[in-house]
This record gives sequence, C-alpha cells and structure tokens, in this order.
Amino acid sequence: MSDRRATPHAADAAPGGGRLAGLSALVTGGGSGLGRAIVDRYLAEGAHVTVLERSADKLQDLTSAHGDRVQMVQGDVTSVRDNETAVATAVSAFGGLDTFVGNAGLWDFGRPLLDMPLAGLEQGFRELFDVNVKGYIVGARVSAEALKDRGGSMIFTLSNAALYPRGGGVLYTASKHAGVGVVSQLAYELAPDVRVNAVAPGGMSTDLRGPDALGLRDRAISEVLPAEAQLRQYSALDLAPVAEDYAAPYVLLASRDESRTVTGIVFDVSAVGTPRRPNAPL
Ligand code: NAD
Repeated sequence: MSDRRATPHAADAAPGGGRLAGLSALVTGGGSGLGRAIVDRYLAEGAHVTVLERSADKLQDLTSAHGDRVQMVQGDVTSVRDNETAVATAVSAFGGLDTFVGNAGLWDFGRPLLDMPLAGLEQGFRELFDVNVKGYIVGARVSAEALKDRGGSMIFTLSNAALYPRGGGVLYTASKHAGVGVVSQLAYELAPDVRVNAVAPGGMSTDLRGPDALGLRDRAISEVLPAEAQLRQYSALDLAPVAEDYAAPYVLLASRDESRTVTGIVFDVSAVGTPRRPNAPL
C-alpha cells in the first residue's frame, strides 16, 4: 500500500529537482516580506505555488517575476470564499495541495494598552484577530481535506511575540499566542494525516501594516524598524535578519523527507529568547 505521506514520485518533480520538487503549496500574504521570500524559495526548491494576497500591485510584481509559475488569487484571508477559491485554484492547476502556509498578518506597532482609545481597541482587536487568528483557522479548515488527500502539512507564521513579550502590543502578542493554540490543537486533531507546525521569526523590515481602527493601515513596520542596529540589539546572535533569512525553516517543515516526524511544534528562529550579554556589541 502506498504511503500518502511519502515524497511524490520523481516523475512529478519540477525540472531541476529541489527539496520540494513536485509539491504544491499555497502561501497567504505571499506578495511581500516574508511571504514573498517563502514563495521565491519554494519555487527555487521545485514547488508549484499558489498565492492568496489582497494587494493587486504585489500580485502584479509576482507575475512580472515568475509568470505562470505562480497561480495568483486576489482576495482576503478572512473570507471563506477567497480561501476556497485559492485552494481550488491550487488543486486544479497543480493536481492537489501539499502545503498550506498561513502567513498574512497585521501588527499593532507595539501600541501600549493604555494608549489605545476604547473605540479603537474594540475595532482594532476585531481587525487584527480577524487576519491573524481567524484567517489561519479558516485557511486550515478550507485546505484540510485537500492536504489530507496528499498527506500534506500546514505551516503558520507566528512571531517572537508568540512566545515572549515586547514583540508588539497586547493585541499582536495575544493574537500570536493564539496561533500557538491553533498549531497545538490542529496538530492533535489532524494527525496522523496532516502535520501542523509554525515558524516564529523575529523582527524584519517589511511592509507589515496595522489595523485601520488604530490609524495604522498606511504605516509599515519598515518605517519603525529601518535601523540595523535596532534589530541587532534584540538578537542574541547580533543579527539584523531580512525576510529571506527566515525562508529555510518553511522548506524544512514542508519537506516530507526532512520533517516527517515533526508536528505540533513552534520553530523559534527569532534568536530573541536568549538575553543579550551585557557587553554584546550593538
Ligand atoms: P508584509 O506586510 O510584507 O506581508 C504580509 C502580506 O499579507 C502583505 O503582502 C499583505 O498585503 C498581505 N495581507 C495582509 N492582510 C491580508 C488579508 N486580509 N488578506 C490577504 N492578504 C493580506 O509583512 P511581513 O512582515 O512579511 O508579515 C508576514 C508574517 O510575518 C505576518 O504573520 C507577521 O505577523 C509575521 N512576522 C513579521 C515580523 C516583522 O518584523 N516584519 C516579525 C515576526 C513575524
């Protein structure tokens, strides 16, 4: 009897092979930052990629870079229908779905609780949790059957804020902690057919935006995290990572050969859990 969790037959592999040769992956928020780095890296590793992204401009950039090697779905991760369209697109274009990467997110720019007006707090909570938590759960629900058919896996982008304070304000930190619950519960529920894991990267300068209700829709984290020194001071390894630095763990977790025993983990690649030595260089 064949094992659905085995690597697809070499005949299905993209020309040139790669660690993900022949696999079909759906990446949400694949238009910029970390999502874009994952898309580029997955393609380089031989995967077929579908992207669910709300920005038409970013999808246009992806098309210019990769042509029809990537299937584009313009839509919102909080919408069941848009998630269904994205999964159906991946299945019809590439014959199935092996990996769902829930990645699209919003940040709260570290806004302290007492600086949040009550009206903004309520609506800001809804907007941020809708994307960071509901978007992940809806994506998981909609992709699960297709993933089961292929013995695939889910990977969610969490954050240092999923594990430690100071990676955001209470809205963001609570939403990323909720992501740990998503991974833990779904790894349990979907075993043994679907592996469910997360990657927790640290800060990087990207286009990450915030909730409209907090006046943060048109601000990007790159405006507040532009300084290399600022990023390095949080890293035990004295690093100022860029999005591409974090793409490799997503390859590892998507690969059946390299992580077939791995489910229910949050892979902390943030290097912020170890305190800086007092004399470490800034
Ligand atoms: P980014 O804004 O560059 O990428 C996120 C993408 O998601 C964007 O292209 C955006 O258009 C898209 N998006 C946002 N809301 C959407 C929605 N409702 N529907 C569809 N697409 C939507 O930001 P990024 O920093 O690459 O963020 C990716 C993930 O990384 C997020 O989950 C974020 O929380 C996490 N993260 C970021 C940092 C950081 O410092 N930038 C650190 C740790 C974790």
